[in-house]
Amino acid sequence: MSDQKKSAQTQGLPNIQTSFSDWYNEIIYQAELADQAPVRGCIVIRPYGYALWEEIKKVLDKKIKDTGHENAQFPLLIPESFLKREAEHIEGFAPELAVVTHAGGKKLEEPLVVRPTSETIIHYMFAQWIRSWRDLPLKINQWANVVRWEMRSRPFLRTTEFWWQEGHTAHETKQEALHEAQTMLLEYIDLAENYLAIPIIAGKKSESEKFAGADITFTFEGLMQDGKALQMGTSHMISQQFAHAFNMKYQDRSGKEAYPYLTSWGATTRLIGALIMTHGDQKGLIMPPRVAPIQVIIIPIYTKSMPQEEVDTAAFALKERLEKNFRVKIDNDTHVTPGSKFYKWELKGVPLRIEVGPRDIEQQVAVLTSRVNGAKQTVAWQDLEHTIESTLQEIQSTLFQRARERRAAQWHKSAKLSEFSHDLETKGGFYQTGWCRSLLCEEQLKQYKATTRCLIEERQFLNCFYCDQESPSDVIIAKAY
Ligand SMILES: [Zn+2]
Repeated sequence: MSDQKKSAQTQGLPNIQTSFSDWYNEIIYQAELADQAPVRGCIVIRPYGYALWEEIKKVLDKKIKDTGHENAQFPLLIPESFLKREAEHIEGFAPELAVVTHAGGKKLEEPLVVRPTSETIIHYMFAQWIRSWRDLPLKINQWANVVRWEMRSRPFLRTTEFWWQEGHTAHETKQEALHEAQTMLLEYIDLAENYLAIPIIAGKKSESEKFAGADITFTFEGLMQDGKALQMGTSHMISQQFAHAFNMKYQDRSGKEAYPYLTSWGATTRLIGALIMTHGDQKGLIMPPRVAPIQVIIIPIYTKSMPQEEVDTAAFALKERLEKNFRVKIDNDTHVTPGSKFYKWELKGVPLRIEVGPRDIEQQVAVLTSRVNGAKQTVAWQDLEHTIESTLQEIQSTLFQRARERRAAQWHKSAKLSEFSHDLETKGGFYQTGWCRSLLCEEQLKQYKATTRCLIEERQFLNCFYCDQESPSDVIIAKAY
């Protein structure tokens, strides 16, 4: 038995190299991020998982407000007829809808849809709120849960009910709307790269991959450790048909009747899945410090040389002090050994551990251990804040660097599908190539279980990966979640 396999077994997590998918399911359960709900395809987000979501929300909510949006709350139930007003939209969502037909003990006159997204209800309200050009731009965001009936679900990646924010805006000009969609894409990229430490590829979706009812869909995607792409969020220029379908008429600056240009953009609890699959290792999760629910775990070490109360007093004093600057927890459970505490908090991915034992207390030092590489340092109490701050920053950038190097190794450039199809199917990874934009060529990818992920501006390949016709710019192809 190889050492790796042995350690994987003793640690109780499936091998991350050979059984990535099992590892993923198991770590979510063992680290207490989420649990299965009684309804198939639904999950319960447990407190540790929810605390992570709250940290992510905090960052994103600030970005949303700083870019001039206001939060509002729209209802969960939408009249079914609203979804039918925009043909592409209903066609795209019909198979995934959950519909309420009975309520209050009676059959409803009109069935109600549990929102799969809120364009329709929000646009209905926009039509009433936008009377004149003075009412524009209108920039609203909603934090909500939505329901899309999923046949095959995976925790955080694809669940029947999920949590997200959805931004919806209306503008006077197409340029303004485009600028809005791009601005929010950049905010998402900043969140992903500088907070979640996940390197991003961003671009436009192909016609067949874009949002049902959008003119343009921008996407940002990461490459997971198993070589599959993960769409982490999208930002859309919504079709003018929505404005017409919801009769969103207003009086423009010249007194004429006009319809606003619309956008919508969203990111979901899927970001948690991305974080797990980007940074985790054989020992468990690794939380990027900037969004870690717990940044520092303090573990008092009890020995016979000092009364337990004395160790606790010192440990709690440290906690109180460090709490002013960091998210800190103390694990003073006396029923488990320090070893099993180390294991537990490594599994949960806490970036930094501090041990406080009798000898450390006498010398007024603490031992810091990094979750990323296990490096230990002994630090004098008076230097703790400073050292923790710089070590957390180091961990944050190491995680990003590591993910970027891994992605670079899995990012291939190749002119012909016939040359890369085997590796695409068996090894995964990003394949940058040229594409004529025809659906016929795009559909060739299906047999390798791959799709176009995004169109990028770079143009290294002049011809299509399949038919040899001219390619306007490169495309990224991958297998995806
Ligand atoms: Zn082609």
